[in-house]
Amino acid sequence: MSKYESINPYTNETFASFSNPTEDQIEDALNLADALYHKWQHESPQTRATQLEAISAGLAAHKEALAMMMTNEMGKLLSEAREEVDICVEICHYYAVNGPKLLEPTPLPTSLGHAYYLKQATGVILACEPWNFPLYQIIRVFAPNFVVGNPMILKHAHNVPSSAALTAKIIKQAGAPEGSLINLYLSYSQLEQVMADKRVQGVALTGSERGGTSVAQEAGKNLKKSTMELGGNDAFIVLDDADTTVLENVLADARTYNAGQVCTSSKRMIVVESQYEHVLKILKQVFSHLVAGDPAAAGTSLAPLNSQEATDKAIKQVKSATEAGAKVYYQYPEIKHPGAFFRPTILTNIAADNPMFDTEIFAPVAEVFCVKDEYEAIKLANQSNYGLGSSVISADIKHAETVAAKIETGMTVINGRWITAGEIPFGGVKRSGYGRELSPLGLMAFVNEHLVIDVTDQNR
Ligand code: NAP
Repeated sequence: MSKYESINPYTNETFASFSNPTEDQIEDALNLADALYHKWQHESPQTRATQLEAISAGLAAHKEALAMMMTNEMGKLLSEAREEVDICVEICHYYAVNGPKLLEPTPLPTSLGHAYYLKQATGVILACEPWNFPLYQIIRVFAPNFVVGNPMILKHAHNVPSSAALTAKIIKQAGAPEGSLINLYLSYSQLEQVMADKRVQGVALTGSERGGTSVAQEAGKNLKKSTMELGGNDAFIVLDDADTTVLENVLADARTYNAGQVCTSSKRMIVVESQYEHVLKILKQVFSHLVAGDPAAAGTSLAPLNSQEATDKAIKQVKSATEAGAKVYYQYPEIKHPGAFFRPTILTNIAADNPMFDTEIFAPVAEVFCVKDEYEAIKLANQSNYGLGSSVISADIKHAETVAAKIETGMTVINGRWITAGEIPFGGVKRSGYGRELSPLGLMAFVNEHLVIDVTDQNR
């Protein structure tokens, strides 16, 4: 891990840096969060739902400040940063409206008596989050756990500490009780210490396989529940009967949104022969029309990556792909700017023995595969250690649904690219992790399903 620093990847300016907390600060944070958990046990979810609605309004009121901070800190387009705030406002609203009802006891029909299970808070949750959606990644864990009554300690990525601080400040100003979201700039060893603490009951991590493996291991060692939202190498399957307009609309940003730094970005385009040349042409059209520049400027459509380190890594990955036989179908012209820009690239001819065949490239690199038919498309889609998202493009919805059901993945979007909202779940299988965030499933991630049964009453 590097230091907690805010470095603008467009200007290379370091505009803030932060120290790890002291032992006393960690102890105070744990005490505060734990005390709130015990206080919340005596309050109804409806009280927190009302506060969450105010938090939703608070985020909306500070949309520009939040969006600008994300753009400055990790380089995303300002327009996309604004969309991110909108999604978070909606997620808070979703849980504020639906949380209390979803947390009502569930009856259990049984001949053994009157039975039901309660959905109770379990205690303090640790959230370990990545930089690619600095606000959204926090809210995905914070909003459901807030309604449930689980206070949250946040360890955000080392390169978005200012976004973490601003989010915590806005949430507090909106009326969230002290201790409901505590932002700490923890080192890896401090994170282990917090995870081992008996006041902490679970850890939610979103990030890479590397981060997920170490944190899941540590959680397992301490018998703490965990959810892991990890990387992906998502298949974007184009079938024979794909509609051209749909295809053009979806490809317009399926691989370029957030400069390709999306876990569910369409990384592997798997295209049946009849559509192959057509898809390549559309992608080239999209990639070559991107306008590199200041991510805060209205006309820019190609932002820098989040750091120079990320750009160097992606360049190395493309080199390694081509050295192993992949062909460059298109590469964006040289970008003469000191920012962390990466030249969007379209690769073809990636054989199964290419080291990049099943490696996640976190940058605008489209890997396009040509297959004979849909059976080969499904086979290739499943030839991956990952299983996060996927897309199926077909004008025949029944056909698309049949193909979707055969993909080993957590999410499939028909005739669209990745999508997210409060009411739909997010998560994967295989090395993309386990557990779900968002929707009613995400609400239950750190809930105690507490069985209560009255065995004297067998008639109810
Ligand atoms: P990362 O390195 O794993 O970092 C994620 C978080 O884990 C950061 O806070 C990081 O802290 C921390 N971390 C990493 N290694 C750790 C360790 N050994 N011990 C303790 N904490 C550790 O992930 P990234 O590369 O920044 O993020 C991009 C990855 O996230 C991609 O693979 C992407 O696909 C995935 N992602 C998945 C989802 C999803 O929902 N499935 C969503 C978004 C992104 P530091 O920053 O301090 O190292």
